Amino acid sequence: MNKMRIAVLGAGGLGKAAAQILSMKEEMNLVAICDSRGFAYCPEGLVVESISKLVPNDTVGDIVDGEMTTDGIGEIIALGDKIDGVFVALPNLPNEFIPGVTQRFIKAGYSGVFSDALKRTRAVELMFELNEGLKKNKSVYLVGCGATPGLLTAAAVIAAQSFVKIENVDIGWGVGISNWDAYKATIREDIAHLPGYTVEKARTMTDVEVEELLDQTEGKLILHEMEHADDVLLQRVGVVESRSQVKVGGVMDTRSAKKPVTTTMTLTGITYDGKRSSHKFILGDETTMAANVIGPALGYLKRAQWMKEHGLYGIYGSTEFMPMVVR
Ligand code: NAD
Repeated sequence: MNKMRIAVLGAGGLGKAAAQILSMKEEMNLVAICDSRGFAYCPEGLVVESISKLVPNDTVGDIVDGEMTTDGIGEIIALGDKIDGVFVALPNLPNEFIPGVTQRFIKAGYSGVFSDALKRTRAVELMFELNEGLKKNKSVYLVGCGATPGLLTAAAVIAAQSFVKIENVDIGWGVGISNWDAYKATIREDIAHLPGYTVEKARTMTDVEVEELLDQTEGKLILHEMEHADDVLLQRVGVVESRSQVKVGGVMDTRSAKKPVTTTMTLTGITYDGKRSSHKFILGDETTMAANVIGPALGYLKRAQWMKEHGLYGIYGSTEFMPMVVR
Protein backbone atom coordinates (compact mmCIF):
# COMPACT_ATOMS: atom_id res chain seq x y z
CA MET A 1 0.00 0.00 0.00
CA ASN A 2 1.26 3.48 -0.85
CA LYS A 3 1.45 5.79 2.13
CA MET A 4 -1.58 8.10 2.30
CA ARG A 5 -0.43 11.67 1.72
CA ILE A 6 -2.06 13.72 4.48
CA ALA A 7 -2.77 17.43 4.87
CA VAL A 8 -3.71 18.84 8.28
CA LEU A 9 -5.75 22.04 8.33
CA GLY A 10 -4.88 23.96 11.51
CA ALA A 11 -1.66 23.79 13.49
CA GLY A 12 -2.91 24.51 17.00
CA GLY A 13 -3.09 22.00 19.84
CA LEU A 14 -4.74 19.24 17.82
CA GLY A 15 -2.97 20.00 14.53
CA LYS A 16 0.42 19.69 16.22
CA ALA A 17 -0.58 16.50 18.04
CA ALA A 18 -1.73 15.10 14.67
CA ALA A 19 1.68 15.90 13.17
CA GLN A 20 3.43 14.09 16.01
CA ILE A 21 1.23 10.99 15.84
CA LEU A 22 1.47 10.87 12.03
CA SER A 23 5.28 10.81 12.32
CA MET A 24 4.90 7.46 14.15
CA LYS A 25 2.78 5.90 11.35
CA GLU A 26 3.99 3.79 8.42
CA GLU A 27 0.77 4.06 6.42
CA MET A 28 0.36 7.85 6.45
CA ASN A 29 2.74 10.69 5.66
CA LEU A 30 2.13 14.33 6.66
CA VAL A 31 2.95 16.33 3.53
CA ALA A 32 1.08 19.62 4.13
CA ILE A 33 -0.12 21.73 7.05
CA CYS A 34 -1.48 25.25 7.43
CA ASP A 35 -2.54 27.77 10.03
CA SER A 36 -4.03 31.25 9.82
CA ARG A 37 -0.71 32.85 8.83
CA GLY A 38 1.21 30.23 6.89
CA PHE A 39 1.43 26.93 5.09
CA ALA A 40 4.07 24.24 4.56
CA TYR A 41 4.35 21.50 1.94
CA CYS A 42 6.92 18.82 1.26
CA PRO A 43 6.00 15.83 -0.95
CA GLU A 44 8.51 13.62 0.91
CA GLY A 45 7.00 14.50 4.29
CA LEU A 46 7.32 17.48 6.62
CA VAL A 47 9.88 17.58 9.44
CA VAL A 48 7.68 17.02 12.48
CA GLU A 49 10.18 18.36 15.04
CA SER A 50 9.93 21.82 13.47
CA ILE A 51 6.12 21.72 13.89
CA SER A 52 6.19 20.32 17.46
CA LYS A 53 8.38 23.12 18.74
CA LEU A 54 6.05 25.91 17.59
CA VAL A 55 4.51 27.78 20.53
CA PRO A 56 1.09 29.53 20.41
CA ASN A 57 1.20 32.48 17.98
CA ASP A 58 4.12 30.97 15.98
CA THR A 59 3.28 29.87 12.43
CA VAL A 60 4.09 26.90 10.21
CA GLY A 61 4.95 29.53 7.59
CA ASP A 62 8.31 29.82 9.41
CA ILE A 63 9.34 26.13 9.34
CA VAL A 64 11.49 24.42 6.69
CA ASP A 65 9.31 24.14 3.54
CA GLY A 66 6.97 26.80 4.97
CA GLU A 67 5.81 30.09 3.54
CA MET A 68 3.74 32.96 4.86
CA THR A 69 0.21 33.29 3.46
CA THR A 70 -3.17 34.38 4.73
CA ASP A 71 -4.84 31.60 2.74
CA GLY A 72 -3.10 28.37 3.70
CA ILE A 73 -6.34 26.47 3.11
CA GLY A 74 -6.38 27.77 -0.49
CA GLU A 75 -2.75 26.64 -0.94
CA ILE A 76 -3.66 23.13 0.24
CA ILE A 77 -6.74 23.01 -2.02
CA ALA A 78 -4.44 24.00 -4.92
CA LEU A 79 -2.29 20.90 -4.25
CA GLY A 80 -5.24 18.88 -5.60
CA ASP A 81 -4.32 15.26 -6.35
CA LYS A 82 -1.04 15.55 -4.41
CA ILE A 83 -3.16 15.07 -1.25
CA ASP A 84 -5.08 11.85 -0.47
CA GLY A 85 -6.54 12.70 2.95
CA VAL A 86 -7.34 15.84 4.95
CA PHE A 87 -7.69 16.03 8.73
CA VAL A 88 -9.56 19.20 9.68
CA ALA A 89 -8.23 20.64 12.99
CA LEU A 90 -9.62 24.13 12.49
CA PRO A 91 -11.72 26.10 15.00
CA ASN A 92 -15.44 25.56 14.57
CA LEU A 93 -16.21 29.21 15.15
CA PRO A 94 -18.69 30.16 13.81
CA ASN A 95 -20.69 26.97 13.07
CA GLU A 96 -20.50 27.72 9.34
CA PHE A 97 -16.69 27.88 9.19
CA ILE A 98 -15.78 24.21 8.56
CA PRO A 99 -18.81 23.66 6.25
CA GLY A 100 -17.56 26.72 4.30
CA VAL A 101 -14.02 25.31 4.05
CA THR A 102 -15.42 21.97 2.82
CA GLN A 103 -17.45 23.81 0.20
CA ARG A 104 -14.23 25.36 -1.12
CA PHE A 105 -12.73 21.86 -1.61
CA ILE A 106 -15.95 20.76 -3.35
CA LYS A 107 -16.01 23.78 -5.67
CA ALA A 108 -12.36 23.17 -6.61
CA GLY A 109 -13.32 19.63 -7.70
CA TYR A 110 -11.05 17.99 -5.10
CA SER A 111 -11.47 14.21 -4.89
CA GLY A 112 -10.13 12.74 -1.64
CA VAL A 113 -11.07 11.85 1.92
CA PHE A 114 -11.63 13.90 5.06
CA SER A 115 -12.16 13.49 8.79
CA ASP A 116 -12.70 16.09 11.50
CA ALA A 117 -13.35 16.47 15.24
CA LEU A 118 -16.41 18.70 14.85
CA LYS A 119 -18.49 18.98 18.01
CA ARG A 120 -21.58 21.18 17.66
CA THR A 121 -24.89 19.61 16.57
CA ARG A 122 -25.72 22.55 14.29
CA ALA A 123 -22.32 22.42 12.56
CA VAL A 124 -22.70 18.68 11.89
CA GLU A 125 -26.20 19.25 10.47
CA LEU A 126 -24.72 21.82 8.07
CA MET A 127 -22.03 19.34 7.05
CA PHE A 128 -24.61 16.69 6.07
CA GLU A 129 -26.05 19.19 3.56
CA LEU A 130 -22.79 18.84 1.59
CA ASN A 131 -23.42 15.19 0.71
CA GLU A 132 -24.24 15.69 -2.99
CA GLY A 133 -21.21 17.89 -3.72
CA LEU A 134 -18.86 15.42 -2.02
CA LYS A 135 -20.43 12.49 -3.87
CA LYS A 136 -20.13 14.25 -7.21
CA ASN A 137 -16.37 14.63 -6.63
CA LYS A 138 -16.02 10.98 -5.46
CA SER A 139 -14.94 12.22 -2.03
CA VAL A 140 -15.64 10.72 1.40
CA TYR A 141 -16.08 12.85 4.54
CA LEU A 142 -16.40 11.27 7.98
CA VAL A 143 -17.70 13.87 10.43
CA GLY A 144 -17.52 14.05 14.24
CA CYS A 145 -14.52 11.71 14.59
CA GLY A 146 -12.79 13.09 17.73
CA ALA A 147 -13.41 11.82 21.28
CA THR A 148 -16.93 13.17 21.81
CA PRO A 149 -18.44 12.98 19.32
CA GLY A 150 -16.26 10.20 17.95
CA LEU A 151 -14.71 7.52 20.11
CA LEU A 152 -17.38 7.62 22.84
CA THR A 153 -20.26 7.91 20.38
CA ALA A 154 -19.07 4.92 18.37
CA ALA A 155 -18.75 2.99 21.65
CA ALA A 156 -22.42 3.82 22.35
CA VAL A 157 -23.43 2.15 19.07
CA ILE A 158 -21.65 -1.05 20.12
CA ALA A 159 -23.11 -0.85 23.65
CA ALA A 160 -26.65 -0.46 22.28
CA GLN A 161 -26.54 -3.94 20.72
CA SER A 162 -27.35 -5.69 24.04
CA PHE A 163 -30.71 -3.93 24.42
CA VAL A 164 -34.08 -3.86 22.68
CA LYS A 165 -34.85 -0.38 24.01
CA ILE A 166 -32.36 2.39 24.76
CA GLU A 167 -33.30 4.78 27.55
CA ASN A 168 -30.38 7.16 27.55
CA VAL A 169 -26.75 7.80 26.73
CA ASP A 170 -24.79 9.82 29.24
CA ILE A 171 -21.35 11.16 28.36
CA GLY A 172 -19.21 12.84 31.01
CA TRP A 173 -15.75 13.95 30.00
CA GLY A 174 -12.76 15.22 31.93
CA VAL A 175 -9.85 17.03 30.30
CA GLY A 176 -6.77 18.55 31.90
CA ILE A 177 -4.37 20.84 30.03
CA SER A 178 -1.56 22.95 31.51
CA ASN A 179 -2.10 26.07 29.36
CA TRP A 180 -5.38 27.19 27.86
CA ASP A 181 -3.67 28.87 24.89
CA ALA A 182 -2.33 25.55 23.59
CA TYR A 183 -5.97 24.77 22.65
CA LYS A 184 -7.55 28.18 22.11
CA ALA A 185 -10.41 27.06 19.87
CA THR A 186 -11.33 24.15 22.15
CA ILE A 187 -11.51 26.49 25.17
CA ARG A 188 -13.49 29.19 23.33
CA GLU A 189 -15.93 26.54 22.07
CA ASP A 190 -16.33 25.20 25.62
CA ILE A 191 -17.01 28.72 26.91
CA ALA A 192 -19.76 29.02 24.28
CA HIS A 193 -21.66 26.29 26.21
CA LEU A 194 -21.67 28.22 29.51
CA PRO A 195 -24.92 29.88 30.57
CA GLY A 196 -25.02 33.44 29.20
CA TYR A 197 -22.55 32.74 26.37
CA THR A 198 -23.08 32.03 22.66
CA VAL A 199 -20.82 30.79 19.86
CA GLU A 200 -20.61 34.35 18.54
CA LYS A 201 -19.77 35.82 21.94
CA ALA A 202 -17.05 33.20 22.57
CA ARG A 203 -15.60 33.76 19.09
CA THR A 204 -15.16 37.48 19.61
CA MET A 205 -13.68 37.26 23.14
CA THR A 206 -10.11 38.52 23.31
CA ASP A 207 -7.41 36.33 24.87
CA VAL A 208 -7.37 38.69 27.87
CA GLU A 209 -11.14 38.27 28.34
CA VAL A 210 -10.75 34.47 28.22
CA GLU A 211 -7.99 34.68 30.84
CA GLU A 212 -10.16 36.89 33.07
CA LEU A 213 -13.02 34.41 32.88
CA LEU A 214 -10.69 31.50 33.68
CA ASP A 215 -9.27 33.48 36.65
CA GLN A 216 -12.77 33.72 38.10
CA THR A 217 -13.24 29.93 37.89
CA GLU A 218 -9.72 28.91 39.01
CA GLY A 219 -9.09 27.70 35.48
CA LYS A 220 -11.99 25.23 35.41
CA LEU A 221 -14.99 25.09 33.07
CA ILE A 222 -17.86 22.90 34.26
CA LEU A 223 -20.33 22.16 31.48
CA HIS A 224 -23.78 20.56 31.47
CA GLU A 225 -26.22 19.63 28.68
CA MET A 226 -23.84 20.66 25.93
CA GLU A 227 -25.10 21.07 22.35
CA HIS A 228 -23.00 18.14 21.14
CA ALA A 229 -23.50 16.27 17.90
CA ASP A 230 -23.36 12.90 19.66
CA ASP A 231 -27.18 13.30 19.69
CA VAL A 232 -27.71 13.67 15.94
CA LEU A 233 -25.08 11.01 15.15
CA LEU A 234 -26.71 8.45 17.47
CA GLN A 235 -30.20 9.30 16.18
CA ARG A 236 -29.01 8.74 12.58
CA VAL A 237 -28.19 5.08 13.28
CA GLY A 238 -31.21 4.30 15.46
CA VAL A 239 -29.52 4.16 18.89
CA VAL A 240 -31.93 6.83 20.18
CA GLU A 241 -35.27 8.02 18.86
CA SER A 242 -35.04 11.46 20.37
CA ARG A 243 -31.94 13.63 20.69
CA SER A 244 -33.00 14.50 24.24
CA GLN A 245 -32.00 10.95 25.28
CA VAL A 246 -28.33 11.93 24.85
CA LYS A 247 -26.66 14.10 27.50
CA VAL A 248 -23.11 15.44 27.31
CA GLY A 249 -21.29 17.32 30.05
CA GLY A 250 -17.72 17.74 31.14
CA VAL A 251 -15.05 19.35 33.27
CA MET A 252 -12.13 21.18 31.65
CA ASP A 253 -9.19 22.11 33.85
CA THR A 254 -6.89 24.57 32.08
CA ARG A 255 -4.28 24.65 34.86
CA SER A 256 -3.27 21.04 35.27
CA ALA A 257 -2.55 18.25 32.81
CA LYS A 258 -4.18 15.80 35.25
CA LYS A 259 -7.76 14.88 34.31
CA PRO A 260 -10.16 16.48 36.81
CA VAL A 261 -12.68 13.62 36.38
CA THR A 262 -12.63 10.31 34.51
CA THR A 263 -14.26 10.29 31.05
CA THR A 264 -17.12 7.83 30.70
CA MET A 265 -19.94 6.91 28.33
CA THR A 266 -22.87 5.13 30.01
CA LEU A 267 -25.67 3.66 27.95
CA THR A 268 -28.77 2.45 29.77
CA GLY A 269 -31.38 0.23 28.17
CA ILE A 270 -33.84 -2.62 28.59
CA THR A 271 -32.93 -6.14 27.42
CA TYR A 272 -35.23 -8.51 25.50
CA ASP A 273 -36.04 -10.25 28.82
CA GLY A 274 -37.07 -7.06 30.57
CA LYS A 275 -33.94 -6.21 32.53
CA ARG A 276 -32.72 -2.64 32.86
CA SER A 277 -28.94 -2.35 32.79
CA SER A 278 -26.07 -0.06 31.79
CA HIS A 279 -22.89 -0.58 29.81
CA LYS A 280 -20.05 1.75 30.70
CA PHE A 281 -17.05 2.69 28.56
CA ILE A 282 -14.26 4.28 30.61
CA LEU A 283 -11.22 6.05 29.20
CA GLY A 284 -7.92 5.57 31.01
CA ASP A 285 -7.06 8.67 33.05
CA GLU A 286 -3.56 8.78 31.58
CA THR A 287 -4.90 9.25 28.03
CA THR A 288 -4.97 12.90 26.99
CA MET A 289 -7.56 14.76 24.95
CA ALA A 290 -5.11 14.78 22.02
CA ALA A 291 -4.62 10.98 22.20
CA ASN A 292 -8.38 10.39 22.32
CA VAL A 293 -9.15 12.79 19.46
CA ILE A 294 -6.32 12.24 16.97
CA GLY A 295 -6.23 8.44 17.26
CA PRO A 296 -9.89 8.06 16.21
CA ALA A 297 -9.69 10.89 13.64
CA LEU A 298 -6.83 9.13 11.82
CA GLY A 299 -8.50 5.72 12.20
CA TYR A 300 -11.60 7.16 10.54
CA LEU A 301 -9.48 8.79 7.83
CA LYS A 302 -8.12 5.33 6.96
CA ARG A 303 -11.72 4.02 6.89
CA ALA A 304 -12.68 6.91 4.57
CA GLN A 305 -9.88 5.90 2.19
CA TRP A 306 -11.15 2.29 2.31
CA MET A 307 -14.66 3.56 1.45
CA LYS A 308 -13.35 5.60 -1.49
CA GLU A 309 -11.53 2.54 -2.78
CA HIS A 310 -14.82 0.62 -2.52
CA GLY A 311 -16.79 3.31 -4.40
CA LEU A 312 -18.78 4.53 -1.39
CA TYR A 313 -18.79 8.33 -1.49
CA GLY A 314 -20.46 11.18 0.44
CA ILE A 315 -20.60 12.29 4.06
CA TYR A 316 -21.24 9.97 7.02
CA GLY A 317 -21.00 10.23 10.80
CA SER A 318 -18.56 8.50 13.13
CA THR A 319 -21.44 6.27 14.25
CA GLU A 320 -21.99 4.85 10.76
CA PHE A 321 -18.66 3.09 10.19
CA MET A 322 -15.99 1.60 12.44
CA PRO A 323 -12.65 3.39 12.44
CA MET A 324 -9.69 1.31 11.20
CA VAL A 325 -6.30 1.30 12.92
CA VAL A 326 -3.45 3.11 11.22
CA ARG A 327 -0.20 1.16 11.41
P1 NAD B 1 -6.43 25.79 18.17
O1 NAD B 1 -7.05 27.11 18.44
O2 NAD B 1 -5.32 25.33 19.09
O3 NAD B 1 -5.86 25.75 16.68
C1 NAD B 1 -6.60 26.14 15.57
C2 NAD B 1 -5.65 26.28 14.37
O4 NAD B 1 -6.42 26.65 13.23
C3 NAD B 1 -4.58 27.35 14.55
O5 NAD B 1 -3.35 26.87 14.05
C4 NAD B 1 -5.10 28.50 13.69
O6 NAD B 1 -4.06 29.33 13.20
C5 NAD B 1 -5.74 27.71 12.57
N1 NAD B 1 -6.68 28.52 11.80
C6 NAD B 1 -7.68 29.32 12.24
N2 NAD B 1 -8.29 29.92 11.19
C7 NAD B 1 -7.66 29.50 10.08
C8 NAD B 1 -7.80 29.78 8.68
N3 NAD B 1 -8.74 30.60 8.23
N4 NAD B 1 -6.94 29.17 7.82
C9 NAD B 1 -6.00 28.32 8.25
N5 NAD B 1 -5.81 28.01 9.55
C10 NAD B 1 -6.63 28.60 10.45
O7 NAD B 1 -7.60 24.70 18.09
P2 NAD B 1 -7.68 23.28 18.83
O8 NAD B 1 -7.89 23.54 20.28
O9 NAD B 1 -6.56 22.42 18.36
O10 NAD B 1 -9.09 22.70 18.29
C11 NAD B 1 -9.35 22.40 16.93
C12 NAD B 1 -10.76 21.87 16.78
O11 NAD B 1 -10.86 20.57 17.37
C13 NAD B 1 -11.82 22.72 17.47
O12 NAD B 1 -12.89 22.96 16.58
C14 NAD B 1 -12.30 21.88 18.62
O13 NAD B 1 -13.66 22.02 18.91
C15 NAD B 1 -12.07 20.48 18.10
N6 NAD B 1 -11.98 19.50 19.21
C16 NAD B 1 -12.77 18.40 19.16
C17 NAD B 1 -12.76 17.47 20.19
C18 NAD B 1 -13.63 16.25 20.14
O14 NAD B 1 -13.55 15.41 21.04
N7 NAD B 1 -14.47 16.08 19.14
C19 NAD B 1 -11.90 17.66 21.29
C20 NAD B 1 -11.09 18.77 21.29
C21 NAD B 1 -11.12 19.69 20.25
